[in-house]
Amino acid sequence: MRRKIIGIFVVGILLLTGFASVPSQAGPALQPLTSPDPQIIDMIQQVNESLLYYYNTHLTAFGPRYTGTENCTKASQYIYDEFQAMGLSVKFHNWTFDKFTDRNVVATLPGTDTSSNAIFIICAHYDTVEISPGAIDDGSGVSAVLATAKILSQHSFNYTIRFIAFSGEEVGLYGSYLYARDVSRRGDNIVGVINLDEIGYSNTMEGGRTFCFLCPSRSKWIGDFALTVSTLYIKQTNMTVELYQNLILSDHQSFVEYGFDAIFGQQYDSDEYYYEHISHSRNDTSDRINWTYITNVTKLVLAVVSELASTPLELQVIITTPYQGYSYFFNHPLLPLDFWKSSFSSLRGTTFIVGRTELNVDVIPYDDVETVLFCIDGNINGGVWEVAQPHYNWSIHTMFNTPLVGKHTVEVYVYTTSGKVAFDEINTIIYTI
Ligand SMILES: [Zn+2]
Repeated sequence: MRRKIIGIFVVGILLLTGFASVPSQAGPALQPLTSPDPQIIDMIQQVNESLLYYYNTHLTAFGPRYTGTENCTKASQYIYDEFQAMGLSVKFHNWTFDKFTDRNVVATLPGTDTSSNAIFIICAHYDTVEISPGAIDDGSGVSAVLATAKILSQHSFNYTIRFIAFSGEEVGLYGSYLYARDVSRRGDNIVGVINLDEIGYSNTMEGGRTFCFLCPSRSKWIGDFALTVSTLYIKQTNMTVELYQNLILSDHQSFVEYGFDAIFGQQYDSDEYYYEHISHSRNDTSDRINWTYITNVTKLVLAVVSELASTPLELQVIITTPYQGYSYFFNHPLLPLDFWKSSFSSLRGTTFIVGRTELNVDVIPYDDVETVLFCIDGNINGGVWEVAQPHYNWSIHTMFNTPLVGKHTVEVYVYTTSGKVAFDEINTIIYTI
């Protein structure tokens, strides 16, 4: 009861002071970047065309890699062997969904900060449509992931990095969907994901020096971070970054649907790539790749991932329950909702809630916390302002007990006494009478 009174009081103060306009985008708080890191410059300089050419031509030599086919099995074994030869710990993540069975390849470089469970992911998809050798879609992304892994595996970083090659992308983002679902249920602390899909084509001056990050609103902080990294390392990469609105058409979307932050990296000249009928065709061959471009893009991406995995995470908030993609009945988890075949349904990862259900969040670290705000669709609905603690909870409902019916996003903002802000959200379909 005390908490409720304090909460309403805090909300009142916040509304009066204009604090109510919560930031439209935030993620975790990271220590600001100020200057290039000489070690990262050294790593960037190890990226070269022949390494990317080597991976791309080996991958396309398997031919079209339609999900579940023998070519996919061979290609995934090849990727597994390459990761293993780098000294990384590698696993297949096997999955079956709809009429497909296949496997993702996951390599891990453990972080040195043993007090943190934070994980960053760089990923691409190795499967193709039925007729295409997929040199650009998405052999280019997989080549960059492999080249980055090869160089980073010789170094250590504060936080864990996972390098992932997904299958099932072209048939409905299946491999990443099942992976994101599994790691979400396991409680993995995935802080940020960079997905690379079609990163090797360039035929204009502008396109040759520009890389695009398409950012879901909840993940815009990663795009902003990448933009800062690109300015710090422009001399080494010759690559600038432009940020765009999200497109749901690649594997990053699976992570977003399960409550993680993920962005989609793509070549600037994608329109030309489609007009020239290279996309999803027999013409998507290694000789179409602009090797200078893919090399510079890989340099940039390597810098972004290295900076993400080494820049101190100063504040993070994580919604631990309700689980994404689950149904709840008066606070009891009922059923996992695992049957959404279409990636366009926007229902993957959505949590269905009937009756008041408790929202639980973890704050890392928690000692400096001043305010925790619970919002629905951007409007403040509850506040907690008391002793800083690692866990907070709030019964999902609107203020003045108005019932919630329909599709809603529940958001949590955490503010510290030193002025840091962190954010997490969950997509729900709610009926709270
Ligand atoms: Zn693709």
